[in-house]
Amino acid sequence: MANQYRVQNPVNNEVVETFDYATDQEIKDILDRSEAAFKTWRHTSYEERAAIVSKAAQLLKERSEELGKIMAQEMGKSVPEGAWEADFSGDIMQFYADHAAEHSADQKVDVPGGKAVVRRLPLGTLLGIMPWNFPVYQVARFAGPNLMNGNCIILKHAEITPKSAAAFEEILKEAGLPDGVFINVYATHDQIADIIADPRVQGVSLTGSERAGAKIAETAGRNLKKVVLELGGTDPYVILDSADIKTAAQDAWAKRVQNAGQVCTSNKRIIVMDDIYDEFVDEMVKIAESFKKGDPSNPGENEYYPMSSRQAAELIDDQVKRAVAKGANLRTGGVLEDNSAYYSPAVLTDLPVGSDEYYEEFFGPVAEIYKVSSEEEAVELANNSYQGLGGAVFSEDTERAIKVADQIDTGMIHVNLGQYFSAVLPFGGVKRSGFGRELSVFALDEFVNKQYLYVND
Ligand code: NAD
Repeated sequence: MANQYRVQNPVNNEVVETFDYATDQEIKDILDRSEAAFKTWRHTSYEERAAIVSKAAQLLKERSEELGKIMAQEMGKSVPEGAWEADFSGDIMQFYADHAAEHSADQKVDVPGGKAVVRRLPLGTLLGIMPWNFPVYQVARFAGPNLMNGNCIILKHAEITPKSAAAFEEILKEAGLPDGVFINVYATHDQIADIIADPRVQGVSLTGSERAGAKIAETAGRNLKKVVLELGGTDPYVILDSADIKTAAQDAWAKRVQNAGQVCTSNKRIIVMDDIYDEFVDEMVKIAESFKKGDPSNPGENEYYPMSSRQAAELIDDQVKRAVAKGANLRTGGVLEDNSAYYSPAVLTDLPVGSDEYYEEFFGPVAEIYKVSSEEEAVELANNSYQGLGGAVFSEDTERAIKVADQIDTGMIHVNLGQYFSAVLPFGGVKRSGFGRELSVFALDEFVNKQYLYVND
């Protein structure tokens, strides 16, 4: 069951529906269909592509509630959170429909003796390997720019979100996307390796864990295929000072428990200056204890929802237990319910810096809080990570926060805000958080042939 494509409700761990793996013959057919579709799709105009992608954007928005319900049952996200995600995914698709043509227009380059132009040409079939935590948004981030680029896409979604994958494919079909341009496949990991090796596949983009990223990059490397990797993070969230510790704690908490803590850019290490540390921790504990278990399909106020799967909940439980064995202090929460994926949100302090657990990504609702006594120490701790995805720095004195933010080695950094959600800024990380960028116009440049054409006078 562990790797089967299925809907398994994390509320009670019951399997609702299962899906068969594609046969090897089906994989062959999919690659043929994709190749055939590319022959036409690569020559469609930006206007034609934009009309389809824009229609898909509209459908994502219209069906946001329906998509939210699918996500709630598949991976435990509350329906409003899922509906927000689908709506935002519509914005992302629309952004590419609106901006790809201008960004990707031919660029003249002045050269002596002739005329030169650099153009961005589609590459062919791309493989997108996606995680379950944002089952619609992750697909939109990859599909939006690459459909507009004229590439074809094969989607391999997470084993626990097969219906979100099918719904996305259906929306594109209804929007008018020609057959074969976007194909969802329930492939095994071995079949994925075969797809990457197929000469018609020109690139692969994976969002997921470091383990999967390394594996896919290895297969892609062996086959000399371009890869984009969006991997994990242990993002620092530095609070230098605060005139309102209660609100600071509420904001930090809201970010840490969003999507049951299963967000790559969640504030996984909350770093707080010593003079406000005790009060901040007390507030976090108070908030954590005010949260009650809720039903993601029928949500209320101040509730926590299950993690994406029993397996994910067992993993976080094990991480917290190991952290405690290393000397960390579990201030509250951290209770794994029997026979479900509910794990009560936890506050963890005093995890020894430098321990194995310190370097792990806690992909669940666990607020790890660290105490520092200077800006230098805050920066040192913030950068003491193998990853470098996002982060944030807070101070009443914006200049002070910017000074600290300037020294943090991540792909994304914020001042006085947890995270800015928008299609216009590039998303991605440094170090073991991966390479390449999604979102913004930068994503349009990942999988194109920047070909120059030189015409001699
Ligand atoms: P995961 O790596 O287990 O799975 C991601 C996808 O990769 C799934 O579709 C899975 O089936 C596939 N996969 C895994 N191993 C594979 C293999 N050997 N061959 C083919 N496919 C394979 O990750 P997850 O647990 O679903 O997601 C959580 C991780 O994703 C966290 O580390 C999180 O930080 C990261 N993440 C990163 C971003 C980002 O944008 N940087 C966004 C969301 C999640």
